[in-house]
Amino acid sequence: MKKLILVKFAPEIFLKGLNRGKFEKKLKDNIKNSIRDLNYEFVEDQGRWFIYSEMMDNVIEKVKNVFGVMEVCKVTQVEASMESIEKQALLDMIESSAKTFKVETNRANKKFSPGSMDVSRKVGGYILQNNEDVSVDVHNPECTINVEIRNMAYIYAKRIKAVGGLPYGMNGSTMLMLSGGIDSPVAGYMMARRGVELNAVYYHSHPYTSERAKDKVKQLTNILKEYTGKLTLYVVPFTEIQMQIIEKCREDELTIIMRRFMMRLACALAEKYGINSVTTGESIGQVASQTMEGLVVSDDVSDRPVFRPLIAMDKVDIIDVSRKIETYETSILPYEDCCTIFVPKHPKTKPRLIEIIKSESVLDIDSLVEKAILEMEIYK
Ligand code: ATP
Ligand code: MG
Repeated sequence: MKKLILVKFAPEIFLKGLNRGKFEKKLKDNIKNSIRDLNYEFVEDQGRWFIYSEMMDNVIEKVKNVFGVMEVCKVTQVEASMESIEKQALLDMIESSAKTFKVETNRANKKFSPGSMDVSRKVGGYILQNNEDVSVDVHNPECTINVEIRNMAYIYAKRIKAVGGLPYGMNGSTMLMLSGGIDSPVAGYMMARRGVELNAVYYHSHPYTSERAKDKVKQLTNILKEYTGKLTLYVVPFTEIQMQIIEKCREDELTIIMRRFMMRLACALAEKYGINSVTTGESIGQVASQTMEGLVVSDDVSDRPVFRPLIAMDKVDIIDVSRKIETYETSILPYEDCCTIFVPKHPKTKPRLIEIIKSESVLDIDSLVEKAILEMEIYK
C-alpha cells in the first residue's frame, strides 16, 4: 500500500492524433520541471502518470498549476486484487465521513476480471456490508469512490481540479505588451495557459514614468514566470517617440498614433527574435482607444496576428482572474503609466486610417523605431 499522486491531463491532449506523443512529452517535462526542487519519483502505469513524494502537498501545489494538467488526486496504490481494492475502498469511504456514495471503476488492465461494472458493484456491496450508516446514491452521491485498475490498482475519493489548458510551449509564441495595469498580465496568462510561449515588452517613458513603475512590471513578469518557467522582458525606451508625437501631431490623435508605435515596436521585436504573434490586454469599449476603429487602425501596422484574449470580457471578470493568478495586488500599485501621462482631453474614438497615416507621416517612423530597439534593456 502506497500513497501516490495521480496526474490527469486535459482530454484535449487525447485529440492530438499523431501529435499526441509530442504533447504528452512536453507536459511530462513541464511537470517534472515544476517540481525539480522537490524529492519525487515519477511512475507510469499503463498510460497513467503518478508521482511519489514525501512532500505530497508541495508537489500537488506545483503540479496543479502546470498548464495541461486537468486534475490531481491523492490515491492509494494497492495490489490489483478484489480483496485489496475492497478493503482500501472501505477505508476511503470511512475517511470521507459521507453518508451516500457510488463507485466508479476504470479498468485499463483487460487481464483483470471481473469487468468494471462488476468491480463497482462488488466494491459497493462490500462497503454496504461493512458500514451500516451509508447508502448508495448513483445520481448525487456525497462521495465517489474511484477505482483504477492497471497493473496495480489505485483507489481515491478526493479530486483536486487543476489549471487545465495545454502544455506550455506547444502552441507557438507571442510578444505580450505588458503594462503595469490589471489587464495585460491576465491576457498573457490566458495565452500561456493555451500553450503559447510568452515574451514581454514594456514601453518605458523615463523620466515621466518612474523606476518604480518599471520595477512593478518586472514584478509582474516574475509572477507570470511562476506559470511559464522562464520569461524574457524587453524594456523599450518610449520617451522620444512620445515627445515627437506630442510636438508634431494633433492632440486628439496622440493616443492612436502612440498605440501604432507600440504595435510597430512589438512586431519589430517579434521579427528580431522569431516570435509569431503579438498579444495585448485590450477589451472592446473599455477606454477611448479600445474602440473597434481604434483597434483596426493599430492593427494596420502589424505584420502578424494580434491576439486580444480579453476582448469580450468584462472588467469585473478580468479582475477575478487577476486575483486568482495573483497579479492583482501588484497591478493596483499606484504608479503612473505612459498612457495616462499624455492623454488628450478629447481623444478620437473613431480614427480613420488614411487620416492617421497622413498625420504621422511628419515623423521619421523607421528611425524612431530602430533607435528605441537599439536602446532597449533585456531582463532574462
Ligand atoms: P492594462 O491594464 O493592461 O494596462 P489598460 O486598460 O490600462 O490595460 P491601455 O492603457 O489602453 O489599457 O493599454 C491597452 C494595452 O496596451 C495594454 O493592455 C497593454 O497590452 C498595452 N500597453 C499599454 N501601455 C503599455 C506599456 N507602457 N508597455 C507595454 N504595453 C502597454
Ligand atoms: Mg494601462
